[in-house]
Formats: sequence, structure tokens, C-alpha cells
Amino acid sequence: PKHSSVALIVGVTGIIGNSLAEILPLADTPGGPWKVYGVARRTRPAWHEDNPINYVQCDISDPDDSQAKLSPLTDVTHVFYVTWANRSTEQENCEANSKMFRNVLDAVIPNCPNLKHISLQTGRKHYMGPFESYGKIESHDPPYTEDLPRLKYMNFYYDLEDIMLEEVEKKEGLTWSVHRPGNIFGFSPYSMMNLVGTLCVYAAICKHEGKVLRFTGCKAAWDGYSDCSDADLIAEHHIWAAVDPYAKNEAFNVSNGDVFKWKHFWKVLAEQFGVECGEYEEGVDLKLQDLMKGKEPVWEEIVRENGLTPTKLKDVGIWWFGDVILGNECFLDSMNKSKEHGFLGFRNSKNAFISWIDKAKAYKIVP
Ligand code: NDP
Repeated sequence: PKHSSVALIVGVTGIIGNSLAEILPLADTPGGPWKVYGVARRTRPAWHEDNPINYVQCDISDPDDSQAKLSPLTDVTHVFYVTWANRSTEQENCEANSKMFRNVLDAVIPNCPNLKHISLQTGRKHYMGPFESYGKIESHDPPYTEDLPRLKYMNFYYDLEDIMLEEVEKKEGLTWSVHRPGNIFGFSPYSMMNLVGTLCVYAAICKHEGKVLRFTGCKAAWDGYSDCSDADLIAEHHIWAAVDPYAKNEAFNVSNGDVFKWKHFWKVLAEQFGVECGEYEEGVDLKLQDLMKGKEPVWEEIVRENGLTPTKLKDVGIWWFGDVILGNECFLDSMNKSKEHGFLGFRNSKNAFISWIDKAKAYKIVP
């Protein structure tokens, strides 16, 4: 065959899906040359069209649509599962996400004779518990390592792992990997959690209104150590686990390998948008959700005046997520297991931050 490997990226326009769609088709990507299918619900956006992949519009929460669109893709060798459903309670998250993952595996496993590997992305909430459990249960003491026991609180990540372990049994030789990033720095105007994009939109609005870039977070985030997981690094980590025999049937953390403070990155953000940099404000509980309430017309004006790609403010300024990240201390993980298994990739987080801001500007999402 012309291709050595055939990828199915589920969630191809998301923050990791977009990086995978860019990296997998490259000539020097391990396991290649790759043929790539990519799945999402909406029609393919213009900012995604440069990636040479086969776009499959499909709603994986619908079993019939999943069967109709995915079962004909019989040449798939690797599944990269980088999507999720965001419901209001963890109980609902467990139900919705389990259903989606099962729909995909039910369409792929029986129909793809050459299927080799399933790569599942979850996240650091594996160790911290879902957002709704914060403060209610005792979580683990960071830095987090992959061998820590599961928390005693429901978590859709646990359900997805269990489904995968059950499903791989159905096909001999089928292997798996789990990838657990922290806060992701990447590019996607369609992501349900995009921190860099959200901060860019906030900074652009401050600039437009001639206001100071006030820091909307807690002291622990301003002054303490934070880390992040670069979207391209995570994509490399998925591809490593998909092709390297030493990485099979294991769960791995994935983060950049350095730490930073928001008080330093806030300056970087302010510089990139030419706004006056704010600081941590003692005794004020500033929230993006409050500061940015009702800014839809302002955003429309910014988009129009600067000839930007049309976007809705609710899609690109994900205020609740920014508030969760900046409003809490960042708990770190350990990359030792990945390194011990042979993954030595890393990113300089400051350079990564600037390059994702540049990408948001280059694709005309922000001015
Ligand atoms: P994103 O929200 O960035 O992307 C989701 C993708 O899936 C989009 O392409 C979306 O496109 C598609 N999608 C959503 N629903 C469906 C559906 N029903 N059928 C088909 N396609 C669908 O995903 P992430 O990469 O953020 O999330 C993957 C995992 O990573 C999740 O478990 C998340 O919790 C975890 N994670 C994320 C972090 C982050 O900072 N983003 C941090 C740590 C972990 P469309 O809407 O058009 O369907």
C-alpha cells in the first residue's frame, strides 16, 4: 500500500485534533507516510483547510451516524481519540462521553482488519477530580505520577479508560495508550477549552477599549509555579505511543517540562497586544466572566474593523475556563515515566505561548 499507517482523528478541529492534522501528514512523521481521516460535527472551517486530510462530518454521539460514516473507513490502523462532551454534571459527562467513545469503537473495531492502536486523550483531572469535586474530596498530593490510585469520585476519564480496556480485548494484538495533559496551549477556534485563545480575545478587547489588562486570577496563579502542555508536543506524544513498542498499553502524563509564573506571562500577553499590563489585585475577586459580560457587540466591532475571520465571542472567549485556570493553584505532574519509556520531547513554554498567540493572529482570529 501507498501508506504505512492510516489515522482516524476523532475531534479533528479541536485543540489537539488540529495539531495532529498538521503533523501526521508530514513526510518525516514516525510511522508514516500517514493517510489521515478526521472527524468533527460542523462543516470544515477555512482555518483547517491547509491540513491535507480527509474530512468526515459525523456526530459520534449518534450511533447511526457513527456507523454510517465511520464503518466504511476499513483501512484505519490507528485511532486518536481527542474529543469530549461538556455537560453540566460529571454524572452526565460520564454518560455522554462513554456513549460517544463506544459509538466510535463499535464502528471501527469490527470493520478495520488492520487496526493496531487506540490512543485516548484524557487529562490531569484524572488526579484532581472533575471541576465539581474541587474542595469536596481529598485529591492527590502533586507532582502527580501515573501510578496513583483513582480518586473516590466519578470521573468520565475513568469510564473511558475502562471502556478502552474492555474493547481492545475484542481484537488480538490491538494496543492502547492514555495521554494526560495539563492546561493545553494550542490553536483552535472550535475548542471547548482554549486558554491561549481566550486570553488573546480578552487582551484584544482591553486594547480596543483602551483599558488595562487586569489580572483576573488568584495569588497562587500569579506568583506560584504553573505549567502547561503544548498542543504540538501532545500530538508528538500520541504519535510516539502509537508507533513505539515501549509505549504500548500504558498511561502517560504529558507536559512541557518547565514551569512559569503568570506574573511573567501576563507581561508577555500585554506586550503582544500593546496593552498596559495589570497586576494581581489584592482583595478583589476579578473574574473574566464578569468583566467580559455583554461584550458581544464589542467583539463584532473588533472583527469587522480588523477584517478578522468571523467568530462568535462565546466560541473564542471561553471565560469560565479562563476563570478556572487563573482562579486556582496549578498542580504539577511528573514527566519521568514518559522519559523512562523513551519520550524526551519538551517545549519552552514562553516560546510556545508566543507562537500560539502568533498563530491566532496569523489565522486572523484576533488582531
Ligand atoms: P476540543 O474541545 O479542543 O475539541 C473537540 C473536537 O471534537 C472538535 O473538533 C469538535 O468539533 C469535535 N466534536 C465534539 N463533539 C463531537 C461529536 N459529538 N461528534 C464528532 N465530533 C465532535 O477537545 P480537547 O482536545 O480539549 O479535548 C480532548 C480531551 O482533552 C478531553 O478529555 C479534555 O478534557 C482533555 N483536556 C483538554 C485540555 C484543554 O486545555 N483543552 C486540558 C487537559 C485535558 P465540532 O464541535 O465541530 O464537532
